[in-house]
Amino acid sequence: MDFKQFQLDPRLMQGVQKAGYEKATPIQEAAIPAALRGRDIIGTAQTGTGKTAAFVLPILNKLISGGQRNVPRALIVTPTRELAEQIHDVIKVLSAGTKLKSVTIYGGVGANPQVQALRNGAEIIVACPGRLLDLIAQGHAKMANIELLVLDEADRMFDMGFLPDVRRIVKAVPEKRQTMMFSATFPADVELLAKQALKEPQKIAMGISKPAHTVAHALYPVPQHLKSALLLELLKRTDTNSVLVFTRTKHRASRVAQQIERAGFKVTSLHGDRSQGQRQSALKGFKSGHHDIMVATDIAARGLDIETVSHVINYDMPDTADAYIHRIGRTGRAQRTGDAFTLVTDEDKDMIRILERIMGAELKRETLEEFDYKAPAPPRSESGGRGRGAPRDGGRPPKPAPTPKSYGRNRLAPRKK
Ligand code: AMP
Repeated sequence: MDFKQFQLDPRLMQGVQKAGYEKATPIQEAAIPAALRGRDIIGTAQTGTGKTAAFVLPILNKLISGGQRNVPRALIVTPTRELAEQIHDVIKVLSAGTKLKSVTIYGGVGANPQVQALRNGAEIIVACPGRLLDLIAQGHAKMANIELLVLDEADRMFDMGFLPDVRRIVKAVPEKRQTMMFSATFPADVELLAKQALKEPQKIAMGISKPAHTVAHALYPVPQHLKSALLLELLKRTDTNSVLVFTRTKHRASRVAQQIERAGFKVTSLHGDRSQGQRQSALKGFKSGHHDIMVATDIAARGLDIETVSHVINYDMPDTADAYIHRIGRTGRAQRTGDAFTLVTDEDKDMIRILERIMGAELKRETLEEFDYKAPAPPRSESGGRGRGAPRDGGRPPKPAPTPKSYGRNRLAPRKK
């Protein structure tokens, strides 16, 4: 469907063009007309479906079609700072032909610039719950004129314990408003929130908990102690663009990032132990291609939209199918293709079965030729004695480390498929 059919304000069509969108995605096709009519919406949209533009365009259209300027009129509540920035970026592009202003509000950074942006008359607020409540309490963020409310990734906000804050925010905005809520899953608490916050919502379900079909999945069975060695081999042998590696814990994320760095790759990491500044520069370096690989935990990387991600590698199988879908939603976004590799051990059998059921197909098992799957576990010392490139979790004797220079884009051996 062509964007023209939505009959959006011509100023927004400039933004759509600038964003490079040609045809609306299915969620946009379903959500935009309903949202333009002022309906409340519950969207079950998987990541990478174009859901941000599905709520941003109707918001912008409403705000420029009349009403006050220089007061907050739309509020988008989202679980993480990274998501807030990403939504803010989409708003910036799509609103380029308008004079609307948007501000991001989240903790971990100074409040002054946020307060200043509010004073400068931002009409759109993209916020994480905690800091927003602070700024509301201090009288800096005024909710009296909010006419559009978006609750994004509601299930994640629930997982992170934000629902009480979200309820407070819902109470702080006027009752007469349009509300849109997006969630990949609907645990009971999220259902309840939907009942309380939305009025006769139109339900829009898009590919419920099924990963984008543009992603190829492969499982790599491996003993736990050889995971790092296998990961390094995969990185060396696969033709990749940007690679996102997921681990289960923050500690493991930094350890794996160190191992990858020692093997000569340009790598960064994103997890809860890093400061806001470090997280921002990690993301920037990864998005710009300065770092080819980013190692992340689920919470830190939730919802990230990085166009160049060609491969997601699950160093650890995630705990839930939902987390798997969100992780691999980082690749194969909006019709692009991507690969998802998951290193699996015997303990992951149940999770594999669940994933296969959801996807309605058996997942491919792959083995790496000439990789020594029988290598013994190394001594459990955490320090000393290992050369550059030596996998800490054991494995084959290291190859000589390649020079970082050889790892440009489209590097390495031919893509093994
Ligand atoms: P989202 O699900 O909102 O995170 O969007 C995923 C990706 O799809 C982002 O990179 C968007 O820029 C892109 N996108 C959104 N809408 C469209 C569209 N209509 N055509 C092409 N790409 C799109």
